[in-house]
Amino acid sequence: MRIDAGGGIRTHKPVRAIDFEPIAYASSATPAWGLKDRPPGVEISDEELDSAAEMQIHHLNCGSLCPHGRRLINGDGGLLERALSVCHCLAIESSDGLVLVDTGFGMEDARNPGQLGAGFRVLMGPQPKVETTALKQLEQLGFSASDVSHIAVTHLDLDHAGGLPDFPNAEVHVLAPELEAGLNPKLNERMRYIGGAHWTHSPRWAEHPASGGDDWLGFESVRILPGLDVEVLLIPLIGHSRGHTGVAINTGDGWLLHCGDAYFNHGQVQTPPSCPPVLRFFQTAMAADNRARKANLERLRELSARHGDEVTLVCAHDPVELEREQARVRSAAAA
Ligand SMILES: [Zn+2]
Repeated sequence: MRIDAGGGIRTHKPVRAIDFEPIAYASSATPAWGLKDRPPGVEISDEELDSAAEMQIHHLNCGSLCPHGRRLINGDGGLLERALSVCHCLAIESSDGLVLVDTGFGMEDARNPGQLGAGFRVLMGPQPKVETTALKQLEQLGFSASDVSHIAVTHLDLDHAGGLPDFPNAEVHVLAPELEAGLNPKLNERMRYIGGAHWTHSPRWAEHPASGGDDWLGFESVRILPGLDVEVLLIPLIGHSRGHTGVAINTGDGWLLHCGDAYFNHGQVQTPPSCPPVLRFFQTAMAADNRARKANLERLRELSARHGDEVTLVCAHDPVELEREQARVRSAAAA
């Protein structure tokens, strides 16, 4: 199968087409041990298992959102208290450098929060800070901007892609309909993409089609990020925005699926599902395609119910999930 990361390229963007033979995931309930170019059915050596087990994934909060109405958003606290919503991003260490999943807010957002727009600031109470940018947190971990070679964005909303200018050399993986929406937003989409202020540096876009591709645990049109020794898949989850995607990472001990804004509260993917009322309303109001959003949300709940022992779900804004995953990393490091 041919993965064409440059499909539908526009003339002002770099063209990149890559031949790659991905693993077939169709109807497989067992996670594939994603070492590059492995044909299906080939044995995995102990050394490979060891190296997969050592894979490092950093869970970062790259900016908080603190709107009023904590009880209606977080499900606890007071009505007038400010809620806490995080921007949960991932930094994955690979032999081809770091792979970021979303960037949260960037340096320029912290220096000039006015660029986020009055509407978004009043509604969402964003708290962009220099020290919580992905760039500064990665520097704290001993990396530099040039170590980030790939960024997979769940979508281009300003709280997910604000840090793109901080990593100008990274290849930015995005579903084609999302890039189309970002570059040519409809009137009602302009607030979320803030006029493209986050990509005036001409990012190295790598567009991935949102149709075709492989199956993965019941999800279709899956795309693999080519050329990495770590399996990173784009799992289209259209609905919140026109080209919204999840990003699945084979950790060597199962899958971690970053669902972006496909849901906002961990209760939504539990059975029976639950969600604080304001969050439910907000997700409906923000959806580019609410029917598709609800269908994908239901599929995620089913995925969690059926494959919860193999797949860990996280979304972008739930502080409970972020804390849970950071605690998991800490306890693994201490073991
Ligand atoms: Zn968001």
